Amino acid sequence: MKKITLSPSRVKDFLQCPLMYKFKTIDLLPFPPSIEAIRGTHVHLVLEKLYNLDTSKRSLETALELVTSAFAEVVDGIKSEDALTMLEETLDDAQKKEEYYKQINTCISNYFKLENPKVYEPVGLETWIRTTLECKDSGEMVEVGGIIDRLEVARTGEVRISDYKTGSMPDLRFQDDALFQMFFYALVYAKEHGGKLPRMVKLLYLKDANVIEREPTVQDLQQTEEVILSVYAQIQENMQSKSWKPKSSPLCAWCAFQINCPLYASELSTPDP
Ligand code: SF4
Repeated sequence: MKKITLSPSRVKDFLQCPLMYKFKTIDLLPFPPSIEAIRGTHVHLVLEKLYNLDTSKRSLETALELVTSAFAEVVDGIKSEDALTMLEETLDDAQKKEEYYKQINTCISNYFKLENPKVYEPVGLETWIRTTLECKDSGEMVEVGGIIDRLEVARTGEVRISDYKTGSMPDLRFQDDALFQMFFYALVYAKEHGGKLPRMVKLLYLKDANVIEREPTVQDLQQTEEVILSVYAQIQENMQSKSWKPKSSPLCAWCAFQINCPLYASELSTPDP
C-alpha cells in the first residue's frame, strides 16, 4: 500500500473531500497552481529573501525591489506548462499585470504594518519539519510534516512559529480551522524537541493586515494529534476498500478535479443543446 505523509494541507484536503484527496495525493493527477497560488509563492519568496539580508537592510523599499528580482525564481519553480501559460497570459495583459503586482505590493506593504523585520532573527525560513506519530490502536508510525514559513527562538528559549497568508483573515467562526495548521506545526516541533511547546503561533494575513496569535496548550496539541490520527485511519480504510466518496460543498467551485468527479463530470462533458 502507498506510504503516505500527512501535512496540514493534506489533512485539510481529506476533511474537505476524500475523493479530492485521492485525486491529488494517491492518483497524483496534475493540478496547475492558480494565479492566486503563484502570487502567494511570490510574496513568500520576497519575505524569505528579505530575512536573508542583514537586519539593517530589511526596509520596505528593499522588499519592494525584491518583488521584481524574485520573479525569475518564481517562474523557475513552476513545473506546470499550463500554469506558465496562464502566468504569461496574465502578464501580457496590462490591466491584469498591474493587478498582479498591485496585490503583491499591498501584501508586502501590509507586512511592514504588522511587524518590523529588523528586530527578528529567525533560526528557520521555509523550513521542513517532520516527525512520526504513533497510532494508539495499531502501533503504526505515521509520518507527518510541513514547511514552516518562519521559526524564531528568543534568548530566553521561547519559540514562535509564524505563517504568512496572502488572503484575508477568516471570520471568527473559521479561525479555529485556520489555527489547525499552526497547532499541527507546534505538535511536530514539540515531538522533535522533547515535548517543548512553542510559546506562540502566529498567522499573518497580508491582504488586510491582520494577525491571529495563540499560545498553544497541551490540550490543543492533543486534539490536533487525534484529528491527524483519525484522518490517517480513515485514509487507510479507504485505500483498503478502494472507496473514496465525493463530499460536495461550496468549495467544489474551486476544485481542480471537477472533470474527474462523478458529481460534476457528466455536467461538464455534456455539450449544450
Ligand atoms: S468537485 Fe467537490 S465533490 Fe468533486 S472531487 Fe472536487 S471537492 Fe470533491
